[in-house]
Amino acid sequence: MESIKEIFKIGYGPSSSHTMGPRKAAEIFKEKNPNAHSYRVTLFGSLASTGKGHGTDFAIIKELAPLKVEIIWKQEIELAKHPNALKLESLDANLGILNEWTVYSVGGGKITDFTSDETEKIVYPHTFLTDILKWTKQTGKSFWEYVVEKEGEEIFDYLLEVWQTMEEAIARGIDSEGIIPGGLKLSRKASGYYVKSKNYSGSLKSKTLVFSYALAVAEENAVGGKIVTAPTCGSCGVVPAVLKSLKKSFDFSDQKIVRALATAGLFGNVVKENASISGAKVGCQGEIGTACAMAAAAATQLLGGTPLQIEYAAEMGIEHHLGLTCDPIAGLVQVPCIERNAFAAERALNTSTFSLLSDGRHLVSFDKIVKTMNQTGHDIPGIYKETSEGGLALLEI
Ligand code: SF4
Repeated sequence: MESIKEIFKIGYGPSSSHTMGPRKAAEIFKEKNPNAHSYRVTLFGSLASTGKGHGTDFAIIKELAPLKVEIIWKQEIELAKHPNALKLESLDANLGILNEWTVYSVGGGKITDFTSDETEKIVYPHTFLTDILKWTKQTGKSFWEYVVEKEGEEIFDYLLEVWQTMEEAIARGIDSEGIIPGGLKLSRKASGYYVKSKNYSGSLKSKTLVFSYALAVAEENAVGGKIVTAPTCGSCGVVPAVLKSLKKSFDFSDQKIVRALATAGLFGNVVKENASISGAKVGCQGEIGTACAMAAAAATQLLGGTPLQIEYAAEMGIEHHLGLTCDPIAGLVQVPCIERNAFAAERALNTSTFSLLSDGRHLVSFDKIVKTMNQTGHDIPGIYKETSEGGLALLEI
């Protein structure tokens, strides 16, 4: 598996697969084509279906500026290797093709043309949680220590930057009000929820705070603000909300928080390796389900869980999101995405509590649920996989 830095990417919303990835592809292509007079970019499959709502064209045009860019939308054509494909062409003064590159945005901001050798990026020798669990048993160490052993102590510097970016997104989000651009006339909720939390006490207060933090980050993502993929832009509010609420309740140090982030990243990595974190590939279960699993693992570690309890909590995070569709209204990362972050954060805390109440033994392993999620995603019809052709996307608003 690659570094967990690939799970936690610092960047700008609203979509890791539909804006962050294509923007990166455009940046690389631009560097390789200094003699271009203009560009033509063809978007295929899901990238074309929801590209307008997600702002894919805007992200590419901005990256390739100041040269002219023609965008061609081919939602009816899905390339075999992945539903999120784009072809970039550099053109000369007579519109002759100088160079072309077909590349795939495979989720979480990662791009690949499936031709480059990825073996040099391998950081982790294990790809299954079962093997990593065995490692924790043999060594007596925790998941986060496994991450440090494979990535080196410097991973903490990166994770601290990740945490700071998450906290900044929360702070901006709970301080902002007004309508989220895109046409749905959706107003921001985080600020109001945060203020209302001050009037409550006990579990209602903590629930309201978790909702407000998750909404804050998801709303920042929806307006194109700076966030961290965890594991994607659409699901970026879940992990920060859970960590922030626990930090506040238990006064955890940043050191403990970044260790929890290391474990969260490890679980996200296993899903990315053995299934997918792309809504276009497996539906929202791969985004929000994975985010919930990551947050549940982090929370359980922070609250003193054993490796088995951590694995159980993460497993439930995916199990109870199985089959979750991706059908965003108008192709915008707003409805259902923003609220979904709030509910997944709360669910992550619930699965953590549930697991901590148990002795950690459970029937379905994390590896098995990841495999099941992948198969379920394969079986879900394409209209529910980030194409905005079914479900909620068909509602007349
Ligand atoms: S519905 Fe889920 S997978 Fe689809 S764009 Fe929204 S957050 Fe991402």
